[in-house]
Amino acid sequence: MKIELHATLRECNTFGFDVSADHLAYLDQMVDIPLLLEKAHSESRPWRVIGGGSNLVLASDLPGYTGLMRLKGRSLHSQTSTHWIVEAMAGENWHDFVAWTIAQGMGGLENLALIPGTVGAAPIQNIGAYGLELAQVMDSLEAFDTQTNAFVRLNVSECNFAYRHSIFKEAPQRWIVTSVRFKLPKNWQPNLSYAELAKAFAEKEASSISSQEIFDKVCEIRSNKLPDPRVLGNSGSFFHNPVVSDKEYQTLKAKFPDLVAYPSQDRWKLAAGWLIDQCGFKGYKKGHVGVYEKQALVLVHHGGGTGQELLSLAQEIQEKVLHTFGVQLSIEPVILRS
Ligand SMILES: Cc1cc2nc3c(=O)[nH]c(=O)nc-3n(C[C@H](O)[C@H](O)[C@H](O)COP(=O)(O)OP(=O)(O)OC[C@H]3O[C@@H](n4cnc5c(N)ncnc54)[C@H](O)[C@@H]3O)c2cc1C
Repeated sequence: MKIELHATLRECNTFGFDVSADHLAYLDQMVDIPLLLEKAHSESRPWRVIGGGSNLVLASDLPGYTGLMRLKGRSLHSQTSTHWIVEAMAGENWHDFVAWTIAQGMGGLENLALIPGTVGAAPIQNIGAYGLELAQVMDSLEAFDTQTNAFVRLNVSECNFAYRHSIFKEAPQRWIVTSVRFKLPKNWQPNLSYAELAKAFAEKEASSISSQEIFDKVCEIRSNKLPDPRVLGNSGSFFHNPVVSDKEYQTLKAKFPDLVAYPSQDRWKLAAGWLIDQCGFKGYKKGHVGVYEKQALVLVHHGGGTGQELLSLAQEIQEKVLHTFGVQLSIEPVILRS
């Protein structure tokens, strides 16, 4: 296992914060995982695993071992009369994997195109976009269980998936995901449940739409809406959309008739971006960090700043939204600090 000392993580997080890892361990093979843990335990040092760094706020230099997930490989694992089962290793780039499945003629993941990061991190927050969540298409995953020191397979039903939530959020650091399998329907149908996609394909018969067309459209919409992290540091949505009861929603709606919200089972999902925008933060700049001018849900790093600066801006936004609407915003990315 290759280990770099005092390695900069600037290229390993999409905010581009320039912090360093005491020991950066490259996880290129399965055996590197137990090796990393053994080293950390025997030297009594902390450890964590990162993927593409697209859902992280690095708020200080990281002590101990930081494992960079780089396991590679993707294949058609098996098939049934109705489904393809495809598998990708945890270090594969998520978007490239989605593109690969489409190129193989296997639709089902196209709504999740252009989400940055790795395949292994996708189940951690149950990535979701454009009317699809990972939980709807995942079959199972393999992970190293740090409690039993063994590789285990977890089926989708064992992962406690919910909106931006999974069992991996409940017990951080218990499992290190090594590969994920997806169940893609042979009788593919377009998923146009998201209003913007439905509108874009309104003129076409569902049977004449291909997964490639949806993939291309999702990429086009996303590129117009979200800043490219290579140009402007960000982690996509910075806050979860708050989920409230019908009673809370009705009270807010009576007070703020323009409130933007979507039904979510028997509750309501409030558009966090709208709440932040109403508080006047869109395009706001504070030192080296700020709020994206086109989408208030996205916090950005203009360069030369720190994770601490970003967290202080996040706190300012949370306080103003709480004061104005009585709604508590929770932070989506994982905060790593010493
Ligand atoms: C421009 C932009 C747009 C985005 N859009 C979306 C979106 O539409 N929907 C959405 O859901 N997310 C979105 N995100 C967030 C992010 O892309 C996803 O959460 C992604 O899955 C994170 O992957 P990563 O490899 O970068 O994980 P990292 O940021 O490296 O890690 C995130 C967490 O996962 C853990 N982790 C990473 N790899 C493993 C592993 N193999 N095993 C166990 N734990 C692991 C880390 O310890 C950390 O806690 C967006 C981000 C950006 C920058």
